[in-house]
Amino acid sequence: MRETIDRASRNGAGASALKVSFEFFPPKTPAMEETLWASIERLAPLAPSFVSVTYGAGGSTRERTHATVSRILTETALKPAAHLTCVGASKAEIDAVVDGYAELGVRHIVGLRGDPVEGIGAVYRPHPEGYAQASDLVSAIRSRHPEIEVSVSAYAERHPESRDWQTELDNLKRKVDAGATRAITQFFFDNDLYSAFLDRVAAAGIDIPIVPGIVPVQNFTQTAKFAEKAGASIPSWFAARFEGLEEDATTRQLVAAAVCAEQVFDLVDRGVNEFHFYTMNRADLVYAICHLLGMRPAQAATTEALSLGEKVG
Ligand code: FAD
Repeated sequence: MRETIDRASRNGAGASALKVSFEFFPPKTPAMEETLWASIERLAPLAPSFVSVTYGAGGSTRERTHATVSRILTETALKPAAHLTCVGASKAEIDAVVDGYAELGVRHIVGLRGDPVEGIGAVYRPHPEGYAQASDLVSAIRSRHPEIEVSVSAYAERHPESRDWQTELDNLKRKVDAGATRAITQFFFDNDLYSAFLDRVAAAGIDIPIVPGIVPVQNFTQTAKFAEKAGASIPSWFAARFEGLEEDATTRQLVAAAVCAEQVFDLVDRGVNEFHFYTMNRADLVYAICHLLGMRPAQAATTEALSLGEKVG
């Protein structure tokens, strides 16, 4: 580990060579809103390339996502990326959301198909007047607003509905051809799967950055449940690290930081210099990992964060 950290610093991974982005979800209650903004305030000085805000299943957070993105845009110097899915809305409704973002000054959308309204695992049926797949949405955003960059999803272990790798890669290629310039992966814990995926992507002639989505495990039981639905495997050695810690939140937090640092440093060793962190609206673990990676609060960003603090507080 020590050697890896030194190597990361030597390569400049701790400073300018390393890029991070942070994902948040729109808060439901005033208390959750407070937690989110405390987290944004803490992470902002690390000068992420962008911060993304998810879109609730079935479009359930359309207004809240918009409100959060809007507040980030108007109250901070951060660059927000709004997630948007095709589910449960007509093309006209989605276009109106996109136009609204463009007008607001949003210049980055994470374009997704989304899960069926009935939940993950149900059969996906496009809205009769809607965009059917993520590639259709990407194409619509890019043709309406070429100034908006579009990121898309990618799956190191294949999307659960893709029957084989050819289907998976064809789909990613369609999204790239439609105008996506970055893919962010579903979280994974086995870096070999990510490396094998990068080889497949390169062999398919896809050359956009495939940024690893990293989830610091705040709660192993919850993560395991979600991973099962999302088709992300949990290696037995990984599960063993959290064994017996169900009632011991303090040790769990320490272990989570160590395990996540181990994963990220191994990725740095494999040549990765860009990470997307699923923060779950909590800053501590992500801040610690970024610190270990050599990232320090930028002076300018600190000043911005302070003014953000004044606005928020
Ligand atoms: P797509 O890329 O459209 O693919 C879905 C499936 O359809 C794949 O199996 C693909 O192979 C198949 N497919 C597509 N086109 C064709 C075709 N022409 N022929 C055959 N098969 C095809 N969900 C939310 O609700 N809100 C969010 O904010 C959100 N953010 C996410 C962020 C990231 C980084 C990731 C990785 C996922 C996110 N999700 C989110 C989850 C995502 O919505 C689900 O995984 C969903 O099931 C698929 O959406 P997608 O954009 O990946 O779909």
